[in-house]
Amino acid sequence: MSKVLIVDDEPQYGVFLRDWLTREGHEVRTATTAQAAVDFGTSWSPTVLIADWMLKSPLDGLQVSEAVRAVNPELRTILITGYPSPELKARAEKANVFTFIEKPFSLTEVAGAVRQATNTTPPNLPGSILVVSPSPTIAKLAQDTLRMAQHTSYVAHSAHDAKQVLSAEPAISIVILDCVSASIDQGILAEELRALRQEIIVIGSSESDDQQRFAALGVDYFMPRFWDSTGLHDLLIQRVGQCPACGLELPLRRPLPGDQAEDWSCAHCGGRFRAVLLSNASEEEKRRVHKI
Ligand SMILES: [Zn+2]
Repeated sequence: MSKVLIVDDEPQYGVFLRDWLTREGHEVRTATTAQAAVDFGTSWSPTVLIADWMLKSPLDGLQVSEAVRAVNPELRTILITGYPSPELKARAEKANVFTFIEKPFSLTEVAGAVRQATNTTPPNLPGSILVVSPSPTIAKLAQDTLRMAQHTSYVAHSAHDAKQVLSAEPAISIVILDCVSASIDQGILAEELRALRQEIIVIGSSESDDQQRFAALGVDYFMPRFWDSTGLHDLLIQRVGQCPACGLELPLRRPLPGDQAEDWSCAHCGGRFRAVLLSNASEEEKRRVHKI
C-alpha cells in the first residue's frame, strides 16, 4: 500500500505503530532520532511521515517534515503532539502538515489518519454482520464502528429478532453476540442461529474476559469490547493480534483445521494462547511470546 516513516524517540510507541500499520498492509520504517529520520526519509521517499512534534533532538517533528518534504514534496505528514497550541497549528499549516493527532492517541486513530492520507480502504470482511445486543447503546456503537469501515450491519435486540433478521438477510455471514444479560441465553441462541444457517460465524463479545465462558457455550470466537474493524478482521483471519489482557502485539494465529497448535504465553503479562506462531514473524516479534 504506502510507505510510512515513523519518527518517535519513545521506541515502544514506534514499534506498536509499526506493527499496527504493517497489518494494514503498509510498508513501515521507524526512526528514533530526528537526524536518522531526515537521513533515511530523504533517500527512502515515504508517502506518509508520522512524527512526534517534541523530539529529544535539536530538530522537532515539524523540522523533520520540512527537511524530508524538501526532496519529496508529495509527503503527507501526521504530526503527533500533546500540546497543539494555536502557534504550532499555524506553523504546521504553513508547513503543509496533513493532520494533527493529539496525545494520548489510539492506534485506530493513527491508522485512520494514514488511511485518509493515502486514500486507502480498510481490509474487507466477507458478507454482512448482525450485531445482537439488548443494549441500544452498545448495538449503535458496534454499528457505527462497522459503518466507518464500510461494512453492512444489522442489529437485533432480542433472540427472537436475531433469528428473524438472520432468516430474512441471506448476506449475513457473521453474528456478534454482545449480550451478557439474563434476557438472552447466548449458548442456545448460538445453536439456533447455526441451525438457521450452518456456515455462520458466531463471535461473542463483552467488556470482561469472557473467552472461556463463550468457548464453553460453543461460541468459537471472542472479542473484548470495544473492538474495531481491524480486530474483527484479525479474528476472522485467525490472527491473535493484540494480547487481550495487556495489548502487546503477538505473532500468533489461531489454529486452523489440520494445524499443530501449541501453547504459548504472552511475554509481557503471561496470558496463555493455544495457537500457531506466524511463519513470517521477525526475531523481535518472536521474543514477545514464550512456548510453554
Ligand atoms: Zn499480554
